[in-house]
Amino acid sequence: MNFDKSEKLYNEAKTLIPGGVSSPVRAIKPFPFYTASANGSKIYDEDGNEFIDYCMAYGPMILGHNPPAIRQAIENQLDKGWLYGTPSALEVEMAARVSDLYPSIDMMRFVSSGSEATMSALRLARGFTKKNKIIKIEGGFHGAHDAVLVKAGSGATTHGEPNSPGIPASVTEHTLQVAYNDIEQMTDVIEKNKNDLAAVILEPVMGNVGPVLPKDGYLQEVRKLTAENDVLLIFDEVITGFRLAPGGAQEYFGIKPDLTTLGKIAGGGMPIGIFGGRKDIMGMISPNGPVYQAGTFSGSPCSMSAGIAVLDYLKENKVQETLNKRGDMFRKMLSDVVTDKKPDYSVGGLSSLFVIFFGGKPMNYQDVLKCDSAKYMEFFHKMLNSGVFLPPSQFETNFISMAHTDEDFSKTAEAVEKNLV
Ligand code: PMP
Repeated sequence: MNFDKSEKLYNEAKTLIPGGVSSPVRAIKPFPFYTASANGSKIYDEDGNEFIDYCMAYGPMILGHNPPAIRQAIENQLDKGWLYGTPSALEVEMAARVSDLYPSIDMMRFVSSGSEATMSALRLARGFTKKNKIIKIEGGFHGAHDAVLVKAGSGATTHGEPNSPGIPASVTEHTLQVAYNDIEQMTDVIEKNKNDLAAVILEPVMGNVGPVLPKDGYLQEVRKLTAENDVLLIFDEVITGFRLAPGGAQEYFGIKPDLTTLGKIAGGGMPIGIFGGRKDIMGMISPNGPVYQAGTFSGSPCSMSAGIAVLDYLKENKVQETLNKRGDMFRKMLSDVVTDKKPDYSVGGLSSLFVIFFGGKPMNYQDVLKCDSAKYMEFFHKMLNSGVFLPPSQFETNFISMAHTDEDFSKTAEAVEKNLV
């Protein structure tokens, strides 16, 4: 494959944008491909190469790229203007849909990214409980803000320091870490810190170190422990929300968190974040209460229109049910190839998420760190040259969408068979 135009663009980009990219995970070595367009399950670069896309913009594009129903909703909105700075009916319509799907969310605020959602939810949890500390899971990723950039997954593992410079120790000293799936450690840290512990924040299924699933009963135990110790439970469903089930991981696993953060799928590909939960907690948000939160682009009409369109489409077409089945089928196809060629590797995931772990069957962050990420990157490049775009790191999840066909899956399985190292 020829990547001349991408290479040239990257050389220019590096002089203007640090690392040549707007988000670190995109800085594929020696240079990333520059996208010219995307449609369905395919993404096309400036040199005219076509790839089957399993990155899917890191999750939002559950219907594939450029789905007509969402495009139409955005186009209709453009005719009416795309930013008002006033309330609009769209926010009310969107909020009603989200609240219907998530019985734990009595009230919510719209923001512009998942990072903003978790930042606001944590501030709110601290304001409501009048306590300072939080517990997060080692390798859990909740966006790129100070309180949670401590042993974070995703690009923070691939490219960053486990704890980024520039964050005062006086901030991160309030962020406690526990291993995922280790209920003893969670119990111990909660009991020792409960007097100053505002919240536990976790991804119900870890999505940012490849999907790592909860052990049976783990999430139920965490719910019980937090409730008993007067600590709020925040489910970060930025990846799992609207995906595992219409009501996200909380519906799938039958758990009611106190606060939830959502994003990605919710905006149909337009920028969005949502945080919401119990009415008494949400009542603390300004202007009703003292916890401040605000944003110029919050509740943006295009995000709301695309969000309403995608939620309606998901419901009418039972998308999660279909994709969960297709995910099972595709993981089985991959697993057959992988176990045959590399018995010490594994295929993980659930619903529309999958990953090939280059070593073992990880149950937490430390396990994932033992995978051979250098080999993964070698595989990544070979797959790209075979026309398959996977996330450019072992520490990310792959996404399938409604646009991925059986032919895409077969081609991918063949490419895995050919390229697995
Ligand atoms: N939480 C989780 C679970 C995420 O996966 C991400 C992004 N990958 C975020 C928060 C941050 O979202 P955003 O990139 O929209 O700020």
